Amino acid sequence: MMKEIILIKLGEIVLKGLNRKNFEDTLMRCIRRRLAKIGEFHVRDAQSTIYVEPVHDDADMDEAALCVSRIFGIAAYARACVTEKDLPAIQQAAAEYLKDTLEDIRTFKVEAKRSDKKFPFRSPEICTEVGGYLLEQYPHLTVDVHHPDVVITVEVRDFGAYIRAGLERGAGGIPVGTGGKACVLISGGIDSPVASYMMAKRGLELMAVHFASPPYTSERAEEKVVELLRRVARYSGRLKMYTVPFTKLQEEIHEKCKEEYFTIIMRRFMMVIAERLAREKGAQALITGESLGQVASQTIGAIACTDIVCGMPVFRPLIGMDKEEIIDISRKIDTFDISIQPYEDCCTVFTPKHPRTRPVLDKVVEEQAKIDSEPLIEEAIANVKVRDIL
Ligand code: ATP
Ligand code: MG
Repeated sequence: MMKEIILIKLGEIVLKGLNRKNFEDTLMRCIRRRLAKIGEFHVRDAQSTIYVEPVHDDADMDEAALCVSRIFGIAAYARACVTEKDLPAIQQAAAEYLKDTLEDIRTFKVEAKRSDKKFPFRSPEICTEVGGYLLEQYPHLTVDVHHPDVVITVEVRDFGAYIRAGLERGAGGIPVGTGGKACVLISGGIDSPVASYMMAKRGLELMAVHFASPPYTSERAEEKVVELLRRVARYSGRLKMYTVPFTKLQEEIHEKCKEEYFTIIMRRFMMVIAERLAREKGAQALITGESLGQVASQTIGAIACTDIVCGMPVFRPLIGMDKEEIIDISRKIDTFDISIQPYEDCCTVFTPKHPRTRPVLDKVVEEQAKIDSEPLIEEAIANVKVRDIL
């Protein structure tokens, strides 16, 4: 069996000048931590490429490649086979390792990089020799140096020779953790998991706050959110989920406030509680899945009335997106199928028949003042349940 490794090319981080070292270190840590769940790998960095090498022969390289494809900060990656630095060995390995690809295409070219200058063949010779051998082994192939179906790359490095075909596109973005930490308000819907993914892509470490209102919302509804966050964590890396018991506050709103203000007042309490938890855990911003005009609580006026209770930036990466565009991303990150499972959310408890789409702030504040909320907020926070999402 041939030994395989994964080669990784860096993304946007190459642009970051002085911060580059910090970005690279964070990315290396992310890669190491994420791969540790799959098996034992050596991860090292040389000449602007990161090499992921399995320690044991039975490593699951399909899983490892999938894992790498979801790590932010990676522009491109490829699986490659490793051989001794010996021309016949390289030729044979190329023919064997790339068999499926070569049978599928008509034209190719070989590129060679030789950083081990002691290797007795220079790059153009490696190309000719390997290309010639492949033409013999696969007579249906021809060489096309301008528009080949596949570019085969042979790298002769200090510690071995690597052979690969093409590069896969990586997850892009910036390594998680280089941008600080933010707290996502996560529901069981389609939008907030997508918002989480988008902000993790910009380098933010995540924590998540979920509001549950048992018995109006079920255990299953909460499990659904856990499952959504597990999917998000494939991209963001591990995070903590804080489930806030929201029943008493909601019942109090229901009892004391005018119906048309239920939703907006509830959302203001969500923001207040999320902000306090965020500060406590060292997060510097909130994230929501709001999209302008999608529902009554997401009009410009409603957003103004909720935003104002929050003293930290609120990131709403979906604000200008259509539902269809959001769904495309949720399918891509595999959250869609879970999001559409029909479980109740606390937002659907006590929903007003005619919510205010143009709430007047003074009026909202006046309605909210009918509740003695501070003890209820403190009680909710004191009873938060924490979960590790791995
Ligand atoms: P989603 O698909 O994310 O549920 P939505 O379109 O259903 O969003 P709303 O229900 O109005 O919209 O919620 C808007 C945002 O408020 C959500 O994207 C999420 O960030 C937050 N949110 C809603 N319900 C909850 C909840 N139970 N716990 C935490 N955050 C919530
Ligand atoms: Mg929702």
